[in-house]
Amino acid sequence: MSSATTAPPASADSGRTLRGRRALVTGGASGIGAAVARELAARGARVVVADVAGDAAHALADEIGGEAWVVDLTATHELDDLRLEVDVLVNNAGIQRVSPIEEFDPDDFRRIHSIMLVAPFLLVRAALPHMYANSWGRIVNISSVHGLVASPFKSAYVSAKHGLEGLSKVTALEGGPHGVTSVCINPGYVRTPLVEKQIADQAKVHGVPVSEVVEQVLLKDVAVKRLVEPSEVGSLVGWLTGPDASMVSGASWAMDGGWSAR
Ligand code: NAD
Repeated sequence: MSSATTAPPASADSGRTLRGRRALVTGGASGIGAAVARELAARGARVVVADVAGDAAHALADEIGGEAWVVDLTATHELDDLRLEVDVLVNNAGIQRVSPIEEFDPDDFRRIHSIMLVAPFLLVRAALPHMYANSWGRIVNISSVHGLVASPFKSAYVSAKHGLEGLSKVTALEGGPHGVTSVCINPGYVRTPLVEKQIADQAKVHGVPVSEVVEQVLLKDVAVKRLVEPSEVGSLVGWLTGPDASMVSGASWAMDGGWSAR
C-alpha cells in the first residue's frame, strides 16, 4: 500500500541520469579517469575515453560501450580549432613530478602545464558552443588538494592545479546563464598508478624509506587514515552531473579524508 509519505518505487531507469548524453573524460584509461568513465556510462552516457594510452583507452571504451579518442594533450596546438559535441566534460588527465624548484626540468614544467591547464582550457573552449546551443552542460575538473594548498617540491603540479581552479570559476561565471555548470573536485591521495609512480621520489625528497612513504608522508595529515578509492571520486562526479547538483557551480569539493581541515 502506498501513501503520500511513501517514496515511489525506484524505476529501473532512475539512476540513469545521463541517458542520451555524451561525455568526454580525459585521462580516462586509468585510475580516477577510468572510474569516472565507468560511472558516467553506468548513468547512461555514451563516454569518450580520451587518453594517450591507446590500447587501454580502446579496452575501456569496449568494456563500457563507449568510444576511444587517442590524443596526446601535450600537443595543445592541435586542439586550437577543435569543436566537441559533448554534454559532460571531465578534465582529468594529469601527471606528476616531484623535485625541488632549482632542479626541476623546465620541459617537465611545460608538459605538466600543457596537460593540466592549457588542454583543459582548450577543451572547455571546444565544448561550450555545443553546450550553449543545448542550454545544458556539466564540466568537472579533477583538481587536487594541491589546487587549494601548496606543498614543497610540486611547483608545476601545484601551479597548474591552482590555474585550473581559476579556469573552473571563470567557466562557471560565463556558462551559468547558458545552463552550464563548472566545478572542481579536490581529492587527497588516491590509490592510482600516478601515486604509486611517485613513491620513490617522495622517499628521496622527504628522506624516508620507500616502505614508509604511505604512512609517514601520504597519510600523515589525513584524519581518515586511508587513501581515497578511485570509485569514490567517480561517484562524486556522477552526483555532480546529476539533477540534484544543478546549483553547484564555481565550487571546489574536497575529498581528502579531512586533510584540508587542518
Ligand atoms: P593515472 O596516472 O592513473 O591516470 C592518468 C591518465 O592520464 C593516464 O591514463 C594517462 O595515460 C593519461 N595521460 C597522461 N598524460 C597524458 C597526455 N599527454 N595526453 C592524454 N592523456 C594523458 O592518474 P590518476 O591518479 O588517476 O590522476 C588523474 C587526475 O587526478 C590527475 O589530474 C591528477 O592530478 C588528479 N589527482 C590524483 C590524485 C591521486 O592521488 N592519484 C590526487 C588528486 C588529484
